[in-house]
Amino acid sequence: MPKQLVVFVLFLTYFTSCQNSQHGRDSEIIVKTHATDTSVASACENPEAISFLDIDVGELCVREREVGRRNSIQKIFKSLRLNQYQYNQFVKESKEYFDVLNIKPAQKYFTISKETDTSSVLQYLVFKASDYEYVIANCTDTSLVPYVNEPETKKKRWKLKKQKTILYQPLQISFYEKNIDTTKIYFAAVIQKSLYKTLKENKLDPSLVEKLNVAFNGKYNVNKIRKGDTLQFIYDQLSINGQFLNYGHVQAICVKTKKNCLYAVDYFLKDDSSYQYVDNAGKYLKTSFLKSPLKKGGSIVSRFNLHRFHPILQVEKAHLGTDFAAPQGTPIIATASGVIEAAQFTQNNGNYVKIRHDRKYETQYLHMSRFARGIRRGVRVQQGQIIGYVGSTGLATGPHVCYRFWKHGAQVDPLREKLNIVRQVPKKELNDYLAYFTEVKQALETIAIR
Ligand SMILES: [Zn+2]
Repeated sequence: MPKQLVVFVLFLTYFTSCQNSQHGRDSEIIVKTHATDTSVASACENPEAISFLDIDVGELCVREREVGRRNSIQKIFKSLRLNQYQYNQFVKESKEYFDVLNIKPAQKYFTISKETDTSSVLQYLVFKASDYEYVIANCTDTSLVPYVNEPETKKKRWKLKKQKTILYQPLQISFYEKNIDTTKIYFAAVIQKSLYKTLKENKLDPSLVEKLNVAFNGKYNVNKIRKGDTLQFIYDQLSINGQFLNYGHVQAICVKTKKNCLYAVDYFLKDDSSYQYVDNAGKYLKTSFLKSPLKKGGSIVSRFNLHRFHPILQVEKAHLGTDFAAPQGTPIIATASGVIEAAQFTQNNGNYVKIRHDRKYETQYLHMSRFARGIRRGVRVQQGQIIGYVGSTGLATGPHVCYRFWKHGAQVDPLREKLNIVRQVPKKELNDYLAYFTEVKQALETIAIR
């Protein structure tokens, strides 16, 4: 009998439910009630807490729980009789939303079970990943499928080739995001004592200063604003059901000092299909690309080379990137602002992000351990924004980021490239921009001073 068939038959005799699939040593179905030692379980009936999720709770029992101190998702899975394969699947499929390995105490999760006096069978497990994101594991599917181990590096893949086929009950992982409302807020104030005090008096968080500085991109530091200067800006405020969530995009800023007025206006350039912060004269506030995709620079371990001997494949293979080594988990930043074109996993690249900056340039960041929250296709990012974390997924020997630079669709060496960065709104779009600027300036001027 072929090996695979033997394993399959064995598993059929161990046929178990989602709740106890880990325990297959005898054919008796093990029924256990919830383990409450690692979590705080509230009353059974609590469907309101997750009423917005598309789960038919019906007769099921919803319990709200909290991640305890020294707890981990792995422990929670164990306590709920979910097995290692289901855990691995969960980690892999939820990584974009959820840093499973960095779960915080008091983080909320919910169990939804079929309960009788003597038994409890888990149907859904829901984790609250953030104020507005939920990860849902549906465990109602009792079919057995082969567990596909997709090791994150090629080395590991070779090692695991000899493993037997394992059958397990897959979870169905889905995500839910609460609707985020965006409100345009107009703010203007004359700085009386300090910027910090002005923000505080108006119940604004100092984190907003960072957003304003990103817009000015080093051309002006908002922290340097002086007593008597006027600060005007328009920004998006994000909220859920009327509850403040975060500051969104800054649309326009004006800092009026005694000498001059400094502007940063967010503008979409049709010809370039990119967003830029632009000043009153149509000049971009962006500088060139950052030299390194790592905040602290990192060290270059392998440069762009058309004839490199590949350490894993043992053949000469062009290296079309620049490798920056850094410890696992080091933040990777966008070297220029743009729109995420891809945030996905492939065998060779591992977890990678590709950003389109304008018509001409794209950058790509390979082998990430995971993406930063919210990084997915179509999302706008600013220069310097964290997009992911250093890892060694895909074809990599150790933790590093392979930084690739694309010009007109071909890969080039950014260290040799003379970057022809456009520095201002193109002539044919300048009149449109100046008309828009006049409108925005008017809007800023008419904000009532607080
Ligand atoms: Zn590389």
